[in-house]
Amino acid sequence: MTTPSTTSLNNFPSMNINKITARGKSILNNGEVALVGSGPGDAELLTIRAMRFIQQAEIAIYDRLVSDEILALLPDNCERFYVGKEQAKHCVPQDRINEILVEEALAGKKVLRLKGGDPFIFGRGGEEAEYLLEHGVSCHVCPGITAASGCTTYAGIPLTHRGVAQGCTFITGHIQNNGLLNLPWQSLCCPTQTVVFYMGINTLPKIAEKLVENGRDINTPAALIRKGTQPEQKTYRGTIGNLAELVEKHNITPPTLIIIGDVVNQLTTEQLATPGFLNAKNYTSKTDNTIDSQAKIA
Ligand code: SAH
Repeated sequence: MTTPSTTSLNNFPSMNINKITARGKSILNNGEVALVGSGPGDAELLTIRAMRFIQQAEIAIYDRLVSDEILALLPDNCERFYVGKEQAKHCVPQDRINEILVEEALAGKKVLRLKGGDPFIFGRGGEEAEYLLEHGVSCHVCPGITAASGCTTYAGIPLTHRGVAQGCTFITGHIQNNGLLNLPWQSLCCPTQTVVFYMGINTLPKIAEKLVENGRDINTPAALIRKGTQPEQKTYRGTIGNLAELVEKHNITPPTLIIIGDVVNQLTTEQLATPGFLNAKNYTSKTDNTIDSQAKIA
């Protein structure tokens, strides 16, 4: 394997986001919908495919979690339709959103359905695609960086880490229609597993209680990341035992992600001054506390 020389890297043409043109595989035709994930907020986390669909859109139907920075990339002549959702307070009900998508496509427009994160991860993208297909409307699907991945990375938290976390689970903390939070608690309590809760800020006391009740150590590191990947990103670190207190003390509101597991303090315990930038000057090497090394010592 060869390593590219500095010269060849320097000569590599840098990508100008405004110059991506609507060529390539991602062609949006009249009467079609592009169901696109916009990631957690930073426009630089958009995929090139997402950007291509954005540039072709004649109407954009978007949610609350789509950042202003990304909306600013829509073509000037593109119609904007906000159908934002807040937990339990749907601006436009899901059934109506589905109908709007079909109506606009059948009117012959190039329809962009822009959603926060990834449309198929707690995004109801599957339901929208089903409805479109049932009504004879074809749709392009485009993944986005999901909050669990984008927010943790920009906070300096690796979701898995050799010897510390062998797997990770993304799960919803949103209360079900029956008013309960029925989750497979036992399966979330393995100490070498990272667990990321979406939509869990309002149910956090219950989440913490259930994890501990089912055997997760109350001192397990935990973090809350609010508005991840955006300039306002804030990370609050603590333990399962004091997360609920942190929410109250700092008045933390959605959109916030909850991360449980030893990986939380693996690379840093600091609030990163620049989201996504780990400054070597602030790094203090941890003692090697990985399972592998413990096994070696034993
Ligand atoms: N489809 C989206 C998730 C939608 S559910 C995705 O793949 O990311 C909404 C929840 O996602 C929020 O309540 C919050 O828990 C999380 N979330 C989304 N964007 C976020 C962000 N920028 N910062 C923190 N949490 C975020």
